[in-house]
Amino acid sequence: MSVSRRSFLQGAAAAAAGTLVAGTSEGMARTKAPGTAIDRERRRSPGGPVVVASGNGLPATAKAAEMILAGRDPLDAVVAGVNIVELDPDDHSVGYGGLPNEDGVVQLDSCVMHGPTHNAGAVAALQNIKTPSRVAQLVMERTDHVLIVGEGALRFAKAHGFREENLLTDAARRQWLKWKEARRGGDWLSPAGAEVEGDDQASASHDVMRGPGGAEFTYGTINCCGLDTSGDLAGVTTTSGLSYKIPGRVGDSPIIGAGLYVDNDVGAAGATGRGEAAILNCGSYTIVELMRQGRTPTEACLELLRRVVAHNVDPRLRRPNGEPDFGLIFYAVRKDGLYGSASIRSGRQFAVNSEGRNRLEDCAYLFEGQHE
Ligand code: ASP
Repeated sequence: MSVSRRSFLQGAAAAAAGTLVAGTSEGMARTKAPGTAIDRERRRSPGGPVVVASGNGLPATAKAAEMILAGRDPLDAVVAGVNIVELDPDDHSVGYGGLPNEDGVVQLDSCVMHGPTHNAGAVAALQNIKTPSRVAQLVMERTDHVLIVGEGALRFAKAHGFREENLLTDAARRQWLKWKEARRGGDWLSPAGAEVEGDDQASASHDVMRGPGGAEFTYGTINCCGLDTSGDLAGVTTTSGLSYKIPGRVGDSPIIGAGLYVDNDVGAAGATGRGEAAILNCGSYTIVELMRQGRTPTEACLELLRRVVAHNVDPRLRRPNGEPDFGLIFYAVRKDGLYGSASIRSGRQFAVNSEGRNRLEDCAYLFEGQHE
């Protein structure tokens, strides 16, 4: 039996009374947890859609909210939203124009999850298809499976009429070439006197990590989760994954429970950033479970990040002061319309559409200072 918004609210309020130190006031809750940023959480206006996405997702949140208001299913809405970003050649973290793997081939990962049917679909290491999220949705709707990878995913997409296209734009190819040439001791050389440049596209959608020889690896993705006017939830995550990855490497973005999770009785959560950390901590699933226990979305995201920090014992992934040397951001929407996001480091933003306004808001965070 599904839980209504009202009974969820009553249950969450009771749980929150026992577990949260934060006070709430009309329409806005402010939480101050020790060692974290001030956390702002707002409620949607009654009945209106709430859509959240990663910082590169403003076009997606706008589109998804518009479709939800027009009565469309929330999954169709969020997928149509992220399609805009997948098709944007200037976003090097997603779909067409995404940065390639170490062989110069763009391999895409995506998953979708639909709250009302508690069903999901996903593709991983998919090549030559610009909109992997739509293929993931078809895996959910037109197969008895959840995840199809590689060659099989491509054949499935083609069976559904998707056209194969080269996804490597010239700009992305040039970035990859710089990376190839920056690798010390490799066979590839940059022109004499040329400066080795990194990812000059680093932006709200990217986390940059310096690799051996100073070359930069880029994480970037779009996650988008939506709540419709009847309280139904859906989410999607789509990415070209870690730039210059080992061919076949799969991150968290197509893994249900890691890069995305939706429980229609509770809420939805998704991730961008270092996928290995999201997988190792069952990130999105855990955030939804924390919200089930009464945590607000932001507090649930922060709690998950604290676990990531505690579990991150590999010295290669830590700064001398013990802080993680990578970026990870979670986004969450609760069934009652509260939403939030938290990042390991400060200075990050996420996209929100609620109360008829599309905007960026600051993510809560654990540690001061940008990743780089
Ligand atoms: N999470 C994605 C992955 O690890 C990449 C990203 O979000 O930056 O593949």
